[in-house]
Amino acid sequence: MAYTVKEIFYTLQGEGQNAGRPAVFCRFSGCNLWTGREADRHAATCQFCDTDFIGVGPDGGRFADASLLAKAVLDRWPDQRDGRARGGQPLVVCTGGEPLLQLDEAAVAAFHDVGFQVAVETNGTQPAPAGIDHVCVSPKADAPLVLTRGQELKLVYPQTQPSAQPERFAALDFDAFYLQPMDVTDQAVSDENIRATLAYCLAHPQWRLSLQTHKLLGIR
Ligand code: SF4
Repeated sequence: MAYTVKEIFYTLQGEGQNAGRPAVFCRFSGCNLWTGREADRHAATCQFCDTDFIGVGPDGGRFADASLLAKAVLDRWPDQRDGRARGGQPLVVCTGGEPLLQLDEAAVAAFHDVGFQVAVETNGTQPAPAGIDHVCVSPKADAPLVLTRGQELKLVYPQTQPSAQPERFAALDFDAFYLQPMDVTDQAVSDENIRATLAYCLAHPQWRLSLQTHKLLGIR
């Protein structure tokens, strides 16, 4: 299978359970909940996206098979010997767009072959291939949820739709539950979202606060 990737880059994971951990991000192109075009945002299932996942960027590419994709990820890792990533527990974070439209067992196996643990950040509407080490589901209102277990459930908060309230997800089979304040262009609204998230976590200690520390740090 061929893969279309918007960008591949090395950074620190900014949010959730792996926050602060060096990782290669592999951003797959395309999403099933929005076209990525502003003209379509009002009609999209997911309307608060802040990510450009259209097409292939300068750090991305089209890869004819899984081994070529894994090689491109390996090339970004700073410590590699004998064709494998070294140093701690090398991590590739498969994100998007919606990565599970493309990530398959062959790609997961190819990442493992070059020494990476494999994490995925998904909207949860697609089944996941076997072998992923860290599944983070970020549900979106009114989108059917297919993935109901994993390591991390991360909900952007607050969302107005009844179907996107934390109570809907609290009984699912995840190791940890995170609320992440919705970040918008209006700083006053973002600040209010942080306050609302703090209040919810303090009142419902099952939930932990996830901050987008990469934005606070000004890193990619
Ligand atoms: S599901 Fe994720 S990638 Fe797709 S539009 Fe929503 S936030 Fe963006």
